[in-house]
Amino acid sequence: MKPAELYYKEKDKVRCLACAHKCLISEGRRGICKVRENVNGELILLVYGKVVSSNVDPIEKKPLYHFLKGSKSFSIGTVGCNFRCDFCQNWDISQASKQGFIGGRDVTPRGIVEEAIRAGCRSISYTYNEPVVFIEFVRDVARIAKDKGLKNIMVTNGYWSQEVFNYIYRYIDAVNIDLKGNEKFYNKYCGGNQKPVLDTIKRCYEAGIHIEITTLVIPGLNDKKEDFEFIAKFLVSLDKNIPWHISRFFPMYKMTKSRITPEETLEEAEKIGKKYLNYVYLGNI
Ligand code: SF4
Ligand code: SF4
Repeated sequence: MKPAELYYKEKDKVRCLACAHKCLISEGRRGICKVRENVNGELILLVYGKVVSSNVDPIEKKPLYHFLKGSKSFSIGTVGCNFRCDFCQNWDISQASKQGFIGGRDVTPRGIVEEAIRAGCRSISYTYNEPVVFIEFVRDVARIAKDKGLKNIMVTNGYWSQEVFNYIYRYIDAVNIDLKGNEKFYNKYCGGNQKPVLDTIKRCYEAGIHIEITTLVIPGLNDKKEDFEFIAKFLVSLDKNIPWHISRFFPMYKMTKSRITPEETLEEAEKIGKKYLNYVYLGNI
């Protein structure tokens, strides 16, 4: 547990600024992610230094195909997420805090960097759950990692506030941001909105952070031609060299009765993507 930095006091409550929800949190309550709590008028990050998953992964698994190719990335995550996606592939950790679970291996920022160096990694990835919910820990690790010559990567849903972007962008070298679907999709299946995600993509791009985008294509939910056209056109409006990863869905979490994405759908998305973008990849196939 550690006091959070990204918040301000508002009367007898606290306003968290770590993501676009900007939760207003009463005494003794937690925000939507359930890992940031108002304790005696201070916002506390309950998962500071509590790593629930850590692995040495190929960087291509993030996925990042155009950054430190062929290298290993030390990947960490905590419990908690600001979304509640019905199709979450890491729901056992991302939604655990909503069931009241706060836990993980106790680590220090310096300890994480030492583990990464010992494992021969060239970067640290903040991934598995949404890293902005534990952003103060991300920043403390990232500062030390940067000093030691490691790169920092966020794998994120992009549901950031302007404040969290300002807080972290100097330390981050690369991001993989999910662009999941249209506004209705974000409302219904994730518990958020599309616009803050588009804003994060633009901000990261304009700040010169290496950026790749992932879309998980779920049959019947975000698999129309116009869904693919929208994403490809949005990305090309920034840069036709932004890589787009189109990922196949397998039934998961609250969507165990859904179908696996048909190959023809993925091929159609790829075809549309390639009309606009130089780098389109199919994943999970
Ligand atoms: S990180 Fe987002 S969801 Fe969590 S408390 Fe802060 S504003 Fe709310
Ligand atoms: S944003 Fe990612 S980690 Fe969070 S619930 Fe959605 S799919 Fe899971």
